[in-house]
Amino acid sequence: MSITPLMPVYPRCDVRPVRGEHCHLIDEDGTRYLDFASGIAVNLLGHSHEGLIGAIQRQAAELMHVSNLYGSPQGEALAQRLVDLTFADTVFFTNSGAEAVETAIKTVRAYHQHDDGDANRTEIITFANAFHGRTMATISASNQEKMHKGFQPLLGGFRYVEFDDLEAAKAAVGPQTAGFLVEPIQGEGGIRPASMEFMQGLRALADEHDLMLALDEVQCGVARTGTLYAYEQYGITPDVVATAKGIGGGFPFGACMATEKAARGMGFGTHGSTYGGNPLAMAAGMAVLDAVANDEFLSEVRTKGKKIRSRLEQFIGNYPDLFDYVRGMGLMLGLRMKVESRPFMVHLRDSHDLLTVAAGDQTLRVLPPLVIGDAEIDEFFEKLSAGAADFVVPAG
Ligand code: PLP
Repeated sequence: MSITPLMPVYPRCDVRPVRGEHCHLIDEDGTRYLDFASGIAVNLLGHSHEGLIGAIQRQAAELMHVSNLYGSPQGEALAQRLVDLTFADTVFFTNSGAEAVETAIKTVRAYHQHDDGDANRTEIITFANAFHGRTMATISASNQEKMHKGFQPLLGGFRYVEFDDLEAAKAAVGPQTAGFLVEPIQGEGGIRPASMEFMQGLRALADEHDLMLALDEVQCGVARTGTLYAYEQYGITPDVVATAKGIGGGFPFGACMATEKAARGMGFGTHGSTYGGNPLAMAAGMAVLDAVANDEFLSEVRTKGKKIRSRLEQFIGNYPDLFDYVRGMGLMLGLRMKVESRPFMVHLRDSHDLLTVAAGDQTLRVLPPLVIGDAEIDEFFEKLSAGAADFVVPAG
């Protein structure tokens, strides 16, 4: 047998972390990596955060799981907190980002297939190079053929248009349109923030045609961009938002948040999850919000984001052949390269013990834990500078 016990769907590298300390990961051979990947925008409190560990430990000892057949004081409390902090009136908890997006898709469809709706409105407009997860619905929602290969037939009911192209979105709206599903800042697509005009234009289109505006904030949400959710910076109120990753700080869970109006089709029996909203996840979510959902923390994220961005902008000037420009918001930053970003990411990792993430569109993602301090920022720039200085662009 040649297949590995772990289904070989990931091209895993040789880094094998066994411990985390604040903003560092320690490999099984003792190598200490500076973690500016954060489990791909997950570990926003870094590793070994006392508040998060304590909350999970206490809850694990008290009650780990109960069925959603019973009342959920823990789920009610976290849902109320999210309702208080965001646009949402109601929250469905999931176990992952893809499930949160799936719930958003169902919510958008159910809005129109509700008694007062127009059941012909089934098509959701999504955007080129989006990433919404790996379930059948979420790969169908993306135009990326590499994710479709081997998994036909896709689910119908999605129409792809260019990202950040309001005219294209407008032209795609018809009597079949149910709504939009969009990442305000594309993550896997290369840290590409949508323009203000685009996001506000989608909101206006949705209002004009009674469509749902659903945002995928799985990667950009939960303080990453310097506000609790990125939509706040666009001055819009969404109808539905999918959130995950950072919300558990490393504990796997997500949520689909919606207004009362948007959730009108999501009544008894329409949706469910065995684990969704279990007490352990709720404890992790509370601990994360305790740490990040306050003006002081969010303002620090913005300050650190500005600091790193301006240092990155200075730094790339030294390597005009390697780097093009910096983009992103808060601590969700991307270094757009003039060459493929993956070999540089590998070089930083293997030769300088610095973890970053490659993304589409020749972008190196810089996604530090939000709790980084000046020491980690200095260490990052030392490693990045050393890495750029001895990087050899692979031939071909
Ligand atoms: N949506 C976005 C924007 C993402 O970045 C991701 C994961 O990278 C997902 C959805 C899927 O989340 P998960 O891997 O938790 O299913």
